[in-house]
Amino acid sequence: MDQYDPAAMSEASAAGAATRQFTLPSGDILTVQEPATGHAVAAAIGSGLARAALAIKLDGVTYDLARELPPSASGQPGRIEIITERSGEEALELIRHDAAHVFAASVLELYPGVKISIGPPIESGFYYDIELPDGTNLSDADFPRIEARMREHINADETFVREDVSVERALELFTAQQQDYKVELINDLVSNAPAEAPVTSVSLYTNGPFVDLCRGPHAPSTKRIKAFKLQSVAGAYWRGDSSRQMLTRVYGTAFFSKQELEEHLERLERARANDHRRLGPLLGMFGFSETAPGSAFWFPRGTEVFNELVKLSREMGRPRGYTEVKTPQLFDSSLWKTSGHWDKYRENMFVTEAEERQFAIKPMNCPGHCQLYLMQRHSYRELPVRYSEPGLLHRNEASGTLHGLLRVRHFSQDDGHIFCTEEQIQDEVAGVLEFAFATYRLFGVDVRLELSTRPEQRIGSDELWDRSEAALRNALESRGLQYAVNEGDGAFYGPKIDMHMTDSLGRSWQLGTCQLDYNFPERFDLTYTGPDNQEHRPVMIHRALFGSYERFIGIMLEHFGGELPVWLAPTQAIVLPISDRHVEYAAGVTAALTEAGARVETDDRTESISRKIRDAELRKIPFMLVVGDREQEAGEVGVREHRRGDVGSLSVTAFAQRLAELITTRATA
Ligand SMILES: [Zn+2]
Ligand SMILES: [Zn+2]
Repeated sequence: MDQYDPAAMSEASAAGAATRQFTLPSGDILTVQEPATGHAVAAAIGSGLARAALAIKLDGVTYDLARELPPSASGQPGRIEIITERSGEEALELIRHDAAHVFAASVLELYPGVKISIGPPIESGFYYDIELPDGTNLSDADFPRIEARMREHINADETFVREDVSVERALELFTAQQQDYKVELINDLVSNAPAEAPVTSVSLYTNGPFVDLCRGPHAPSTKRIKAFKLQSVAGAYWRGDSSRQMLTRVYGTAFFSKQELEEHLERLERARANDHRRLGPLLGMFGFSETAPGSAFWFPRGTEVFNELVKLSREMGRPRGYTEVKTPQLFDSSLWKTSGHWDKYRENMFVTEAEERQFAIKPMNCPGHCQLYLMQRHSYRELPVRYSEPGLLHRNEASGTLHGLLRVRHFSQDDGHIFCTEEQIQDEVAGVLEFAFATYRLFGVDVRLELSTRPEQRIGSDELWDRSEAALRNALESRGLQYAVNEGDGAFYGPKIDMHMTDSLGRSWQLGTCQLDYNFPERFDLTYTGPDNQEHRPVMIHRALFGSYERFIGIMLEHFGGELPVWLAPTQAIVLPISDRHVEYAAGVTAALTEAGARVETDDRTESISRKIRDAELRKIPFMLVVGDREQEAGEVGVREHRRGDVGSLSVTAFAQRLAELITTRATA
């Protein structure tokens, strides 16, 4: 089942080796008495480390501390590393796997007849799939009882004992316990094993009264789990096969301290609250329907926000020399053959047929822009040519990978393509970066820059790559910009600069990109007439700052938790008449503010004012304008700001001016 090979071990002992050597992370050599277990190695380094140790890594493979370490395959001293609480994810994975066993032990005790299947550690926690006995079910309400039982197993500090047993013995054990899933797993291990490496034994892990079929590794004992929590219940088919039994999957997580657990749960809670798929409908912006998977339906307010971004791209692009173009949706397969998509990207495209010709809907704008460039003659005098197009794109993403606005099939990029001479690259890239910073500033977002250089697989001479990488570096350095280098991470057709942000939940998102491309100009045979009257090859730069408008809106909603800057808020102000006799005045205020360019609503329901305020707060509307007798007489509005509450009264004119200024200056706060 793993690298453990008793035969090789006994040979080593027979050779009379009473000690063994290992290489420490520092490079020093450590000599340990046989039998060399992880415990022995940790103790030889220091008693403090021996106490803190959770497991040991030998040549990249993790072993239980109690196991005798296998001999090094190379004959050289193996590289070791002791895993402790401070080892990060690897350490957490160990105790989360431990917690999965403790969970299974507990449900077996609390739900006699339960059948257990598999329980691995996963990113940020663990799960265990179980089949509950007939007539029982399990919900969040049962968690406290199960957690209490788990705590007993943890407080008892049960040692995890590994034992390698014959397949026959393991089958006997799990058959007697009527653990059918374990029996099936063992039988499959045997029948799926290659002929040259038959499976004759399996490993079992015991903690307290509980035995599980398991590869390991585990921490020494249950008490290493310092804080844990069961989180949710879901259904999961046995082996992911919808024709098999539906099992109950219980998710949980574990940490080395209560504080870390709490911080984690808090982050999850905020992520749930900030989920753009929840906020979209709540703010009246967009929704999804199974009639068009992976494609948002934009409600009027959402469409206005979307259009604000398109407007912003246009407004900022025009003075920077971008000219907007429009290219088709559907192209003959010949275009995709020229671009290379037909060979390399076809399964991600929606393909269709008409009059016995094959067409595909564009997944990106670049080939269309190359075709457009080709359709006119270009002289060096008019370069750089900068096309922009908020074009509609479709990509055939697998339905299982779709995720709100962040992973879609239908979207629009704020796409731009620059065709320029090689000498112009540096200025053009600097121009793209300036454009990017000016854009991100409007959202109060800082970006990190990453320069990705030549990959192994690439086209073009080294000399060409030297020049293009230098042009990107110079563009960055001439502006004194900090950047990280991702060696070998460039596209096969050229190096690129990517722009990343960290959101309010600490997650990293790529926003913009600026890529040099020598490939498309070659494939499409793009040329310009030089001063020498000869035809020359231009260089192409692909750039997008938002990535796609959809994705950017999704990221901003999550980053701001739905509290978008005023200029971008779907509804910027809502007028709240205190009673029916103020509705007419409220309608007048709404009209005046709409006239001033704002997105405004009136809440004329016959609800109490406190109810209206609460609902507007939930919708995260930046300004609530309360109007009653006093305001009506004075021609004023009582201004409440989201989260801040009452900020005093203003005349309608003064408030309209203030709001219009926030909108036209695209103020961040
Ligand atoms: Zn296990
Ligand atoms: Zn492109």
